Parts: sequence; C-alpha cells; structure tokens
Amino acid sequence: MNLSNLLENNCGKEIKSCTNQEIYFGLLSLVNELASKKESNQNNSKKKVYYISAEFLIGKLLSNNLINLGIYNEIKSILNENGKSLSEVEEVEPEPSLGNGGLGRLAACFLDSIATLGLNGDGIGLNYHFGLFKQVFKNNLQSEQKNEWIEKNSWLNKTDITYDIECGGIKLKSRLYDINVIGYNNRVNKLHLFDVESIDESIVDNGSITFNKEDVAKNLTLFLYPDDSDEDGKLLRIYQQYFMVSNGARLILEECQAKGSNLYDLNDYAVIQINDTHPTMVIPELIRLLIEKGISMDDAIEIVSKTCAYTNHTILAEALEKWPMDYLEKVVPNLIDIIKELDKRVREKYDDESLYIIDEDNRVHMAHIDIHYTFSVNGVASLHTEILEKNELNNFYEIYPEKFNNKTNGITFRRWLMHCNHELTALIEDLIGDGFKKDAIELEKLQEYVNDEGVLQKLLDIKTNNKLALKNYIKQHQGIEIDENSIFDIQIKRLHEYKRQQMNALYVIHKYLEIKKGNIPSTPITVIFGAKAAPAYTIAKDIIHLILCLQQLINNDDEVNKYLKVVMVENYNVTYAEKLIPACDISEQISLASKEASGTGNMKFMLNGALTLGTEDGANVEIHQLVGDDNIFIFGKDSETVIKHYESEDYESVDIYARNPKIKEVVDFIISKELMSIGNPENLIRLFKEIVKKDWFMALLDLEDYTKTKEEAFKEYEDRQNWAKKMLINISKAGYFSSDRTIEEYNRDIWKLQ
Ligand SMILES: *Cc1c(COP(=O)(O)O)cnc(C)c1O
Repeated sequence: MNLSNLLENNCGKEIKSCTNQEIYFGLLSLVNELASKKESNQNNSKKKVYYISAEFLIGKLLSNNLINLGIYNEIKSILNENGKSLSEVEEVEPEPSLGNGGLGRLAACFLDSIATLGLNGDGIGLNYHFGLFKQVFKNNLQSEQKNEWIEKNSWLNKTDITYDIECGGIKLKSRLYDINVIGYNNRVNKLHLFDVESIDESIVDNGSITFNKEDVAKNLTLFLYPDDSDEDGKLLRIYQQYFMVSNGARLILEECQAKGSNLYDLNDYAVIQINDTHPTMVIPELIRLLIEKGISMDDAIEIVSKTCAYTNHTILAEALEKWPMDYLEKVVPNLIDIIKELDKRVREKYDDESLYIIDEDNRVHMAHIDIHYTFSVNGVASLHTEILEKNELNNFYEIYPEKFNNKTNGITFRRWLMHCNHELTALIEDLIGDGFKKDAIELEKLQEYVNDEGVLQKLLDIKTNNKLALKNYIKQHQGIEIDENSIFDIQIKRLHEYKRQQMNALYVIHKYLEIKKGNIPSTPITVIFGAKAAPAYTIAKDIIHLILCLQQLINNDDEVNKYLKVVMVENYNVTYAEKLIPACDISEQISLASKEASGTGNMKFMLNGALTLGTEDGANVEIHQLVGDDNIFIFGKDSETVIKHYESEDYESVDIYARNPKIKEVVDFIISKELMSIGNPENLIRLFKEIVKKDWFMALLDLEDYTKTKEEAFKEYEDRQNWAKKMLINISKAGYFSSDRTIEEYNRDIWKLQ
C-alpha cells in the first residue's frame, strides 16, 4: 500500500476532509505502525545501555519521526496535494516538556543518536502528566500554569508491564508506557516512562500548578520536578526518584534474566548510565533487589558497581543533591541500611570526611554514592571535567583517577539542523552532498566555499528568511513588531544568575542610555530573551521582571525603538527554540567562567550560523578552539581567576559599582523613576541590592569587557560579506558537536556495546 493510502487509513477518512488535528492523529498512528514494523527486523545485541534520567525534554515528535523514517518530504507533498500543510499540522501537536532545560534535552538528543547509531539502548524515566509549567507574563511578571500534553491520542503506548512498588509505607501499582525512539534510517528503541496507576489529575487546582503534595498515590507523576522549596516538595521529589529507579531496576533485572544472565554477570547484559544524581538510588535499590534474590552484600555491591556509570552535570554546590537522612527514612526505609553500609565501607578505607556519603549533619550526598559505587564518572565538556578533577572532585579523583573521563556534550543534527532549518540543510546538501547527515564531520567540506561570494550571499539570504519567519511568529504571539534587518542578538536558556541574563539586561540599559545621548548604532539591534525561572527562585523572577520592564520602556520610546528593541518571548521551550535558533546572528553564552558545565544551546546556534559572544566556559572553550579567535567573540575573566575569587572570598561588587561611574549609572537605572513607574519597586529594589551588595555570579566583574566586546561584534557585522564568512566557518566546524560523536565516545569508552 502506498503512503497516501496508509495515511488515509490511519485518518479514517479522506485527507481532504480532515482537520489538522485529525491529520496529526492519523500521522501519529501511521508513524507508530511503521515503527513497529521496523523493530521486528532488529535482533538485539546481548548488552544494552539503559539511560536513566528524571528528564527527557523530547519536544514535539511528529516531524522528527517523519524525518528519521525518511518519509518527511513524501508526507509533505501528500498533504499539499490535498490542500493541507505539514507546518500547520505541526502546530497542533502539544510539546511534551518532560524536562527543565539542557540536561533533559541532552537525554533526548542521546536517545536519538543511540537509535541512529543502531545501538541497543533504551531510556528510563517518569511519565509526568504535566510537563514543565507554561509561562505566562502578567504585569511584567512570570506566572505559572499547568502544561498538559497527553491527549486522547499521544506518542505514549500503554504496555502490560506493571509492578508493585512500596515506598514510605504506601503501596503503589506502576505501569509502563513506551514512546518509540526512531533512529535516523536505523533501528527503533524505546523511551520507557513509568506511571502510577492511581494517578489523579483532578487534584490539580484549575489552571495552576498547585495541588495536594501529600497524597502520593494520586500525585506522584503529576508534575516534572515540582517546587522543592518546602518540605512536602522535597519528599515528593524523593518519592519520584525512588519510584523511577525501583521500576527501572526491576525492568532491567527482568530483561537481563530473560536473556540468560545469572545476575553475577549482569554487566555483560546491562550498563546503566545515571544522568546526574536524580537516579542515584538505582544503586542501593539494585543492591537491595539482588540481595532479595539471594546474593551476598559483597557480591551485590560489586555487581552493581560494575554495571553503573555516572554523569556529572554541575559544580554548583546548591544543585548537588544532599537528602536529609530523616527524609530518606520516611520515603525509602528499605534503602537505609544499604546506604549506611555503603558509607561504612568508605569510612573504613578513608579518613578524609569529604569523601563520606553521610555527612556530620546526617545528610546523604547522592553524588558521593555515584562516585564510589560506579565504574565511570564523566564530565560534559573538557573544561568541566578538568575542573572536576582539579578542584570540585579532586579528592575523589586522587583515589579513583581511572574512573574519571570527559564526554563533551552534543546535539542531534536531525532536530537542530535538518528539522529546524530546511533551507540551510538544502544549501549544504547542494554544496557538499548529504553525507553530513550521517557523518557530521563532513561539514568541514564547506570550508572550500569561504571565499565564494555566491554561497556567502545565500547564507545571508537564508538567515534573513529565518529572521522574517521569527518576526512573524513573535508578532502573531506577542504582538511585538521587530525589524528583520536589525541584528538578532539572542539569549535563550533557563533563567539563572550564573547564566547572567542580568548582565545582558545591564547592557541593554547601557545601549538605551547611549541612544538617548545620541550615539546611534549603525544597524538597529533586537535583543531577544527567552527563559523560565523556577517558581520559587525569587531573584530569577526579579530579573525577568527587569527585562519585561525594559521591553515596555524601550519598545514604547519612539526616540529609541528605531534602533533598539527588546523582546522576552513567552514560554520558551523546545518548539520556540527551533524557531529562534535559525534566526540568530549573535548567540549569547555569557555564563560566569567555570559555572556552565557545557551548554548545548551554544552548539545549536553555531550549527545554524550564529556567532558566539561568550566567556571561556563550558563547551564555549571547545567552540573557540575549533573556529579560532577570528570567528568568535570571547570576553571576561577566565575560570582560574574566578575560582580564586571564590577561594579567597575577595570579590566585592560594591567596589566596582562605586569606582566605575559608567557601571554605576547603568546599575542605578534599575531603580530609576522611569523603570519604577513601569514596574514593581519591591522587585526592582531587591534586584538592585542583590547586584550591588552580593552579585554572587560576578556580573559586574565582566560587564565592561562584555560591553566592549559586544560593540566589536556589532562593528564587525557591518561588513556583511566578512560576517557571512565567519558564519560559514562556524557551520563547517560544528560537526564535532553532533551527539552521534558524543554517543560513539560513550560507547567506545564506557558502554562497550557491539
Ligand atoms: C538546548 C536547550 C536548552 C539548553 O540551553 P543552554 O543554553 O545550553 O542552557 C534549554 N532549553 C531548551 C528548550 C533547549 O532546547
């Protein structure tokens, strides 16, 4: 049967007479039908990787699945022939936002690459009914609404697999739902998402994200990482983590035993990649289950340690999980003796208290369990791994040097080039063929065209088209008019002080004041932000407030808005990222050096021909090495200097504020009468004080260099031909950041699947 008939069958009626919604559901079931046929052709290798993660920020799946099945163009024409448009169908798909940001998005890219490389590997996580909250702006403030994604048809496939899980004296019945992970022209793997059978969506207050946090049987999988600023939230978080790992551990043991494992040889059948500390309890839980099956404590610990590997994602102290023992006693009483035993064994071997699992305040350091009881500890960019080895985890590195390794992050080019930037993909294919789709390093062949004026002009034209598309989208969604001929300067990522959106906002103030003084930029500038703040993160919300107030002030000032506009896009998510990134000229990657483990947004932008304005942090360092000094704008203090400031506690933002009149003028503007009359004095004054008195992430330290370097970038933009050359060099060097490369390295060094 041909595709057109197949689609019609799945829609249940003529395509012509279907709504976009009906076509979406038809395509969804068609994709699952084709995926299930593919899978049966695959014979499994003995060993399998289980990528276990509290987050999989998969984004919309329709177009990516069509691309990976190799039927995107055909479906597009079939729809066109019937008077329908695939891009309109795409719009009706809800985005599954089952992650917060980079860490969850990384897990999703990895699943795509594991399947694309034909590796035997599944994801394990939770089926959150509401993804990351939907962000709404009201009165220049963020508010949060629940974010539904499961409709009557969805990518979830209900399975027959259920388990009885006990936590905190509550008996829960779980059920496994699977999402097909379709590799690009290759095998189909699974994303296993566990859910509670007794879940009850009706306990969520209408529209909001508040609910009864105590009724675990009804709420456990309702939300992704709910607010954990209060005690109930923390307990629920531990319930979620345990529920995920207990289900995962059972599934893994069952699959391995079914393939013939006697459990002592578990590591011949399974390797478990622990994505950050959230799934750490899989270690004691597996030990517990093995002991239940008659294996000794000694053997169980050894088996599990040989099977598990750990990825560290952060050096921010506040992000490293340390659960109070009494919380664990409440939720996972079955694991307490095992955790104490794991700690005891460390104490018997080492005197250094900083290596212990249970600290003097009776808190359990989850990362310490991971490092002692896995065979591999990896960082996510070379600078990050170096800082782990030399600073943050140096005491662990000294005793386990062989465990430490680096795996620089990557992104899937199927989503972040082929799907989000059709025109650029087509141009590249015209120039160098389509080999880059399977072997991203082939992008280097583009170097041949660095002096080809025709090609450079095409790159610029594609960029302008993408800017126009974004302009229309923003106009439609937020009613803000921007100029496609202005420079699109974009910072999109979670809102966090270490990422320093506040520094970018201070630049905007500087530019506003300059224009007011008559210093007009040669080309107008559009500064675009996109960021969600954690609901309980006060300062982050204050920064959003400042940016929204600046947006209102500047966009309504007719003296200024011809030259400068500010847009904070509402509800930044994967879908929005796919529209913003292809339209970007300048990619803002301005974290305080040493604080951004890797970043992956930086890679997406580079691949789509944006130039990076950034610090020597995370993977920016590797981007810099690849493209060279001339094709990136680097500024700011380096990580060693920053680390020294923290060690000697000698950074005083108030000194910079008091000594530098230009900086003072800009910072004072936060509490100017112009802004105070638009915004809330409470929020603005609090943010002002935070920056002047604390500035923990040292925005003022780098502000001057940042401003200077940004001006240089704008100046370079004036020579468009030269700019286009830099764009081309960035694209040609982006192949290294394919997650296919990252996954090949994980497999070569850690997983060792055939
Ligand atoms: C890639 C991505 C991120 C990560 O961005 P960073 O700049 O690396 O922090 C966060 N959110 C979404 C929606 C993304 O697509």
